[in-house]
Amino acid sequence: MSRLFIVPTPIGNLGDITLRSIEVLKSVDLILAEDTRTSSKLLKHYDIDSPVESFHMHNEHKKLESIINKLRNDTQIALISDAGTPGISDPGFLLVRECIKNEVELECLPGPTAFIPALVSSGLPSDRFSFEGFLPVKKGRTKRLKELSADTKTMVFYESPHRILKTLNDFSNYFHVESQISVSRELTKLYEETFRGTIKESIEYFQKKKPKGEFVIILSPN
Ligand code: SAM
Repeated sequence: MSRLFIVPTPIGNLGDITLRSIEVLKSVDLILAEDTRTSSKLLKHYDIDSPVESFHMHNEHKKLESIINKLRNDTQIALISDAGTPGISDPGFLLVRECIKNEVELECLPGPTAFIPALVSSGLPSDRFSFEGFLPVKKGRTKRLKELSADTKTMVFYESPHRILKTLNDFSNYFHVESQISVSRELTKLYEETFRGTIKESIEYFQKKKPKGEFVIILSPN
């Protein structure tokens, strides 16, 4: 029976893939991967030799129709991204929506994503939170920050090493500098680290220590 599987992959430590994810990746007719070279390491590590095709933000619109056609013709396909769960700040949404529209069976397996370990280990309230992903880089950034300054829930952001200080500085303009923040980097990797303190302290910390790796920021509301 045709089906699209959304398969989360490790965010660093290769051991974090689930047994079921490996089984599914081995059994499908086709794996759609954001970057086939990046995924080849994981696939090789687990002896997965299903055919792989690229599916990323630059070709997803173009490929939708042919993928849906395959899914209508008794094909099982798995979607993976470079790391974590597809559809979470990664391609996935368009294909899922198209599957639903075309009544194609789909199943999202549970598995790694960066924001859950960052949120839980932040020590900030996790009963209610808003996932903000990446802040807009230019257009819409100020508007978003203004809106967020009125938010009452814990906020979760993704950030890259070259923009982290700018984002922390922007937070200091829209949130109390004494607001609590937790900044996790390189989760599940060798140099995993979580900084916890105020916004002001986080800026001082990353001014002294050059930011390296991938970051998740957890911020208390104003
Ligand atoms: N789909 C992924 C997920 O489920 O978390 C997110 C992909 S998004 C393109 C990449 C961003 O996720 C990075 O810039 C960083 O903010 C966050 N991220 C991914 N892996 C991480 C890690 N090991 N440690 C900290 N943040 C990570």
